[in-house]
Amino acid sequence: MTFTPHGHHLIAGQWVSSESQFQSSPAHGDAFSFAKGNTAQVNAAVDAAEAAFYAYSTTTREQRAAFLNAIAEEIDARADAITAIGTSETGLPEARLQGERGRTCGQLRLFAQHILDADYLDRRHDDALPDRTPLARADLRMMQCPIGPVAVFGASNFPLAFSTAGGDTASALAAGCPVVVKGHPAHPGTAEIVAEALLAAIVRCDMPAGTVSVIQDSGESFDVGKALVEHPLIKAVGFTGSLRGGRALYDLCAARPEPIPFFGELGSINPMFLFPQAVSNRGVELAKGWAASLTMGAGQFCTNPGVAVLLAGTDSDEFVSVAAQALASVPSQIMLTEGIADAYRQGQQRMAASAGVHEVLSTQCNLRDATPYLYATTAQEWLTNKDLSEEVFGPLGVVVIASNLDEMLRVAQGLEGQLTCTLQLDDADLDAAREFMPVLTRKAGRVLANAFPTGVEVCDSMVHGGPYPASTNFGATSVGTMAIRRFLRPVCFQDIPEALLPSDLR
Ligand code: NAP
Repeated sequence: MTFTPHGHHLIAGQWVSSESQFQSSPAHGDAFSFAKGNTAQVNAAVDAAEAAFYAYSTTTREQRAAFLNAIAEEIDARADAITAIGTSETGLPEARLQGERGRTCGQLRLFAQHILDADYLDRRHDDALPDRTPLARADLRMMQCPIGPVAVFGASNFPLAFSTAGGDTASALAAGCPVVVKGHPAHPGTAEIVAEALLAAIVRCDMPAGTVSVIQDSGESFDVGKALVEHPLIKAVGFTGSLRGGRALYDLCAARPEPIPFFGELGSINPMFLFPQAVSNRGVELAKGWAASLTMGAGQFCTNPGVAVLLAGTDSDEFVSVAAQALASVPSQIMLTEGIADAYRQGQQRMAASAGVHEVLSTQCNLRDATPYLYATTAQEWLTNKDLSEEVFGPLGVVVIASNLDEMLRVAQGLEGQLTCTLQLDDADLDAAREFMPVLTRKAGRVLANAFPTGVEVCDSMVHGGPYPASTNFGATSVGTMAIRRFLRPVCFQDIPEALLPSDLR
């Protein structure tokens, strides 16, 4: 099935055009023309979401689960066309788009099951105590309730799983919140075909027209995003992207007359601490594994393990040289956008020009292509130069050599908030690693051992978040069923007659 985008926004169940258009910038294949969003269209979409709120938020959990499953079915029904437009726009390989579609539909189905299970409502009931002295107690019931319309920013690096019908949208819809998506300009055609799937599911399940709208935008100005987060009827925002963009939007949310939560999943360097016995026993395997994880998807993952910290010595020297060889054999990969490729080159040049950093592997990286780079520095240098810990989004690795375990621990203590921290250790390393656990637990949303952090399981226990700047809200995750909590708030119902209680509390 081929797909030729018509280039319209989806607003309140209608395909809507704009006077201004922009051209997509595919990695390969045809470019298409798309409507450029404006403030009036944002207002129309948010008004429709608010109009949909009371009807949508009071649907039964069974109805919303059927809706989420229908979205997954409609996406699967467009599988080949989604893969074709997605690979063309992003340059990601077909297998990645297919895998990401599976993850996106799996996520929708997981949230369907999650709301049927009903645990997320966290229902509590304190019986009335009319005879209690000196004061009687009222009948008190509590449950988590949907908050209102949610804005979702499509992410450049996950055209499906963190975009139009991705995790933020799925969790908001599961909670009972209508959604207005701002499509990412890197993949407007992919956003449109997924919007088609959303509309088909809305019609099939007889949901209100404003349940999901999708506004396309060129990325030339921030007007659409700004209008969206500043709209008084938007009650929360889901975002994955850069620290700079995320922080700007977070500040806008905080400066509103009514501040709202901004759930931003931002930058992370995902450090990996390699303990001496592990490096001695299986340094070669670890070096090859690191190179593979670092270059997966051209390094364009939030959980890319950009930094390896290990002790000075011959085993570590071998680790570095094997990692360099493995990285050198990775062919160039096309990046998601020219802007991202440009930012990658700038990050690489910044690293290359840093005092106390030496180049282990240098490659030639042109235009929208990314090739791997490897740098090394000492823990002392790392601890004094904060710029070294800035994320370089792409397949660039930094090795930090510590002279002893105390110094390695100081590197851990000096970290900013991270999505992940990894320990590579063998049994003989357990004592040395014990001191790291409370430190890393405080720093990261996910601490893992003897694995690589790329590949985030979508499940009940997953946390994809962490202290700032990994995310703007350390109590939240954007992956896994706990993501639904972002779009709920607890409401206590005191002495409300049974007939007036939400059906889930009766
Ligand atoms: P981005 O620049 O943060 O943009 C994401 C979204 O934020 C876009 O929709 C953009 O709007 C909006 N935005 C950015 N700056 C803004 C501002 N000052 N005010 C209002 N809105 C703003 O991210 P990107 O386009 O995906 O990629 C650029 C860089 O982000 C990459 O080089 C990488 O460093 C980083 N990134 C990190 C992760 C991660 O998970 N750590 C993931 C993706 C990207 P417009 O569409 O209107 O421009």
